[in-house]
Amino acid sequence: MSETRREPASLYTPAYLGIYLFHYPVLTLGPGRRIGLWTRGCSICCEDCVSGETWAFEGGERAEVDGLSCKIRDIFKKESLDGLSISGGEPFDQPGPLIGLLRGLDAAGVRDILIFTGYRIGDITAKYAEISELTAAVVDGPFEKGNDTESCWKGSENQTLTLFRPEFAERYSRWAAAEKGRLQVLSNGRGIFVMGIPRQGDVQKIKEWRGR
Ligand code: SF4
Repeated sequence: MSETRREPASLYTPAYLGIYLFHYPVLTLGPGRRIGLWTRGCSICCEDCVSGETWAFEGGERAEVDGLSCKIRDIFKKESLDGLSISGGEPFDQPGPLIGLLRGLDAAGVRDILIFTGYRIGDITAKYAEISELTAAVVDGPFEKGNDTESCWKGSENQTLTLFRPEFAERYSRWAAAEKGRLQVLSNGRGIFVMGIPRQGDVQKIKEWRGR
């Protein structure tokens, strides 16, 4: 377990979202060309998670939620992009700022928002019912080492995809049928980032390649 694990909600005010990485276009984490937003901090700590460097709640950027919503809205106006993918870290370990951001984006007309979470969809919708109105889809469930899958959109077979917006059914079913293991590499001066969902057999190789 990471030494940086904390009670997540205590570290954040609703107005600020801890961010690990923000990048676009991302081609490997949802249908089409997308903005990728990786939140900072995860209290779930799945064994062999490929994103262990995102677990720490401390440090990094804290984005003011209204400003971040405006920034994303402006990017969508200027760029030809299909949607926003939010991953982590664990997005729902910062529920206040996350939902604040989703409300702002909904008001701005951003329709295709996909969230990856290690929590179960039933728990998420029980706690935050408006998620079903603020997002297009959620991929849920913890990563299970040894329970590999051929589905390109999940890291282990136990995870599920819930589509909330039927208008995107065709684009999500096309994406779900895509080949497993497409990855995108970003080198931005801060480090080297691998974006996408690898095959389980490649997780260790990726960690070794990044020197972590
Ligand atoms: S797979 Fe997701 S939920 Fe699990 S430890 Fe990694 S970031 Fe957290």
